[in-house]
Amino acid sequence: MPLTVVDETLFASLDPVALRGSACSDCGATVFPALGSCPMCTGVDVQPVALPTEGVVWSWTTQHFEPKPPYRTDAFAPFSIGYVDLGPVIVEGWLLGRTTWQIGEPVRLTLATAWTDGDTPVQTYGFEATS
Ligand SMILES: [Zn+2]
Repeated sequence: MPLTVVDETLFASLDPVALRGSACSDCGATVFPALGSCPMCTGVDVQPVALPTEGVVWSWTTQHFEPKPPYRTDAFAPFSIGYVDLGPVIVEGWLLGRTTWQIGEPVRLTLATAWTDGDTPVQTYGFEATS
């Protein structure tokens, strides 16, 4: 059964999972999500790229109350959101599995269920600790 994801344009591939960014041929900037032009130099010679799947926590916070819609979840529990330095770009995403992190801690990209639609888990990306 194919995976259901929150937004297919976020992904370069789902198995193995990789995020889809874009890289500018003029200035070298890489951004996520992928864009049709470069936000740094306004160049239009940008190419989609699969981003590295491992990085380190650049910053993080933990949300202790349920956000307003359009946030969706099956059962709210406090969760962490972080910025993860993947090398060419820093990506914002869910930090999975716990609510306390260290800046510089190694993490890897993975899929996680954002909510369940009927019987179908809707997947999004997140990062889990590598150790
Ligand atoms: Zn550029």
